[in-house]
Formats: sequence, C-alpha cells, structure tokens
Amino acid sequence: MAKRDSPEEKQQPAEEATEETKPTETTEGEKDVSPEEKYRQAGKIAKQVREEILPQIKIGARAYDLCEAAETRILELGGGIAFPTNISINEVAAHYSSPEQDDTTIQDGDIVKFDLGVHIDGYIADTARTVNFNPELEKLVEASQEALNKALVLIRPKTNSKDLGKIIEDTIKGYGYRPIRDLSGHQLDEYLLHGSKNLPNIAVPHGSILEEGEAYALETFATTGSGSVHETGQHYIFSLNPTRTPLRNRGARDIVRLVAKEFKTLPFSRRYIAKHIPKLSLALGLRELTTKNVFRQYSVLADIKGSRVAQTEHTFLVTKDGIEITTK
Ligand code: MN
Ligand code: MN
Repeated sequence: MAKRDSPEEKQQPAEEATEETKPTETTEGEKDVSPEEKYRQAGKIAKQVREEILPQIKIGARAYDLCEAAETRILELGGGIAFPTNISINEVAAHYSSPEQDDTTIQDGDIVKFDLGVHIDGYIADTARTVNFNPELEKLVEASQEALNKALVLIRPKTNSKDLGKIIEDTIKGYGYRPIRDLSGHQLDEYLLHGSKNLPNIAVPHGSILEEGEAYALETFATTGSGSVHETGQHYIFSLNPTRTPLRNRGARDIVRLVAKEFKTLPFSRRYIAKHIPKLSLALGLRELTTKNVFRQYSVLADIKGSRVAQTEHTFLVTKDGIEITTK
C-alpha cells in the first residue's frame, strides 16, 4: 500500500501510540524472536499468499472474493492483516479495497494491481504485483518491474533515496511512460505501515539516507496517464489516529473498540467492520469518526480517466552490505 505525498499527509499528527493503540507487551514464548525474524516470517506468509492468490485473479473474478481469500489465507498461515488487501483496477493506482457490498469483477482488458500486507506482532511485509489482461500494456507492467529491480540492486546502508527515485524515473521514462510522482515507497516500523522515510518514484532534490537494520517497502508505479493521482472520494480504508476523542454515539464507540483491539494503528477496511457492526451503526459511526478525526480515511487514488497504471512492490531489510528481500 503506497504512501501518498501531499500537504494533507504531512499534516497528519505524529503517530504516537496511546493506551488503546500501543503494541501489546511481548508475551512468554516470543521473547527470543527478533524483529528481523518477525519481518522474515511476515514476508514468507505474504509471498505465499501472493503466489496462491495471483492465479485466482482472472476475468470474471470478484474483487470482494479476492480480498477475502487473501485475508483469510493470511490469518490461516498465522499472520495478521497489516492493511486491507487492495485490488486497484485500470486508472486506479491504490487504496481500493472492496467494501461490504461490491459487485466489481475483473473484465477482459483490465490491468489489476494486487497489493497485500501481513504482520507478525506488528512487523510488516507489504508486496504487490500487477495482473494484466490487456496485451497492449505488457511493457507498462515490465516498466514497473524493471524499475523496482534496478532500484533494489542499488540499496545498501547509506544509500540516498533520491538515487532510487532517479533510477525509477529514468527506467519508467525509458519505456515511454511516466512514474507516479505523488506515490512513494515507505519505511516500515512496528505497527507503523507508513514510516517517516519515503522512497520516491521520481528524482527529488533531497532524499533520505537508508540505514542498516531498517525495513522498507519499495513500490514502483508506471502510468500511461499524467503521473499524478487524485482522490476519487471513495473511502474504503481507515486507520485509528492516536489522539483520543470523547464519543457520544454508541455505535462509534463500538467501532473504535473493535478496531483498536484488532488493528491498533494499522489500516483496516470498511468490509471488516461491516461483519461485526449493524449496518446503520456502521454508516453513522463512520461519519462521526471521520468528522472528528478519530479515524484517518484513505481515499481511493487514481490517475486521469482512461489512463492505465502498473505497480510492483517488495519489502526488504537493509543489511550490513545490501538488502534482504523478505517477500521474494
Ligand atoms: Mn503495498
Ligand atoms: Mn506499500
């Protein structure tokens, strides 16, 4: 799931954990498992689920069923859902996860971004692939893949993210397409999907320095469109902001209790809440929670109408002399 670079994004409050959202204390038995090992375990599950679900992304398949199948499998394999499975089609670049009722089906000619997230005790794996049913877009998919591969081989401790942005931009432009400039890869941290350092899709004046021991998701977006995304106004993904606000509406309080327990500060879907909360409470509760800024909402992000977008993503750890790709 991509980080959007926008003024609004930068104004978000610092993501400090509160009583409700802070990670639970390590319990007996998991003491000797290092964060690195948890990143690896999450990566292994993410890879397995990705490879199992990819063949199910076929013409006629329902987006809802694909989201549910991926998330069910993550849980079966012992992972947590780090964010709702994204099925973003055609000009939609990111943040589409089926809501509770969704008739969207894959059509012949579609280009589908499949993006899933797994966590083990808050340590995240984030990976995406593009499944393409339009023969004219083979090179678009290749551009995104090639850009990712070329950037990944450059990374070692002290690599500057602006150098990654440059190779990604140059590679995608070399194919005759545009990178999406306002979507970025991102640092990962415990229960934090979008950490402080960004991995841009374009050459930027000032990057961030990657350090040994850090974890990141690198995701490259190639588009036939403008190279920028807009909010479509659809909101299917939310996350709990760390600040506490008194709530009058009981339905709203029930929703907060549910997601604080299940997801802490990680993003969750409307579809998930709908399974546990009555329909009317869901609509009223979500309205109050987003208005009061208890929930952050992630709009579906799309390039211009009629454009087409490809995405590829892997998660990696920065090691002493390079990287370890956890989702490969
Ligand atoms: Mn992702
Ligand atoms: Mn991501």
